Amino acid sequence: MIIVMKPKTPMEEIMKMKNRILEWGCEIHESQGINYHIFGLVGNTNTVDPDRILAVESVEKVIHVQEPYKIANRLFRPADSVVTVGGRKIGGEDFAVIAGPCSVESQDQITSIAEDVKNAGAGFLRGGAFKPRSSPYSFQGMREDGLELLKIAREKTGLPIVSELMSTEHLERFVEDVDIIQIGARNMQNFELLKEVGKVRTPIILKRGLSATIEELLLAAEYILAQGNENVILCERGIRTFETYTRNTLDLGAIPVIKKLSHLPVIVDPSHAGGLWWLVEPMAKAAMVVGADGVMIEVHNDPANAKCDGQQSLKPEKFSILMDSLKELAKIQGKIIA
Ligand code: PEP
Ligand code: MN
Repeated sequence: MIIVMKPKTPMEEIMKMKNRILEWGCEIHESQGINYHIFGLVGNTNTVDPDRILAVESVEKVIHVQEPYKIANRLFRPADSVVTVGGRKIGGEDFAVIAGPCSVESQDQITSIAEDVKNAGAGFLRGGAFKPRSSPYSFQGMREDGLELLKIAREKTGLPIVSELMSTEHLERFVEDVDIIQIGARNMQNFELLKEVGKVRTPIILKRGLSATIEELLLAAEYILAQGNENVILCERGIRTFETYTRNTLDLGAIPVIKKLSHLPVIVDPSHAGGLWWLVEPMAKAAMVVGADGVMIEVHNDPANAKCDGQQSLKPEKFSILMDSLKELAKIQGKIIA
């Protein structure tokens, strides 16, 4: 349920309403703009009688939120949410570029790629330390050693680091070491993991599950938000369809849909969506045009010998060319690539 207060309601009246809601035993999510003050109610709202609220003079309207996700709902917060990471912003006018290898392989590999993507204009470095591989015989990542190497690359370049967390067992370590925790597609509905990352304040990139609907993605985000972590960034990374030419099907339509339904920033991962390096550039540009708040791109200095996802990784030179065209496009789209 949402209570919209009349414009210019005195603070005293706002506080009175707030205390009343708390007395009803509901949790409040407040959102304030220049001309509005909104109370989003979550929890057991059955005891709340909308007619009694409407009887209060300073109340403009009461809205019943139909959708099962509440805090993620744009009705709860009409303005776009912006997540700030080490002074850089994801959301709003800013277009974030996160780039780096699928997995961290060695100190030379990660620092050299980090320097290349930084020079090309990327704002964040990605690198998998714990890898969710389909086969148990494939490279599983350098694990804790990978995190150490990412920290060295951050030290050298100043780029904030993004890495995937697969188990609550490593959460404390991730909070300590990384700037953004990635929850991968395969764990989008690992509800216990979602609850735990909801308890920390590290920003979370939540990737859409392989066959998850938009509503399921927003409900997964709601798990994190409901625990108090408001720093959630959604990521469209392609979904499973009958098409086999591409690794997944990039659901570009999901971007404007999510933007309509939710205030959360949403980025696109064209690398895992297409699964082919030459599809990354057109899909990344398309992502910006349909309103994404950023892209996550796999870059490798030696794709032919990459331990993971070489076929979809751009060489640093190609990535640099892509960055130049994204910067040109940003001018038309009114976006800022910091
Ligand atoms: C990744 O980003 O390295 C990854 C494994 O992605 P996804 O969870 O989208 O498959
Ligand atoms: Mn990958």
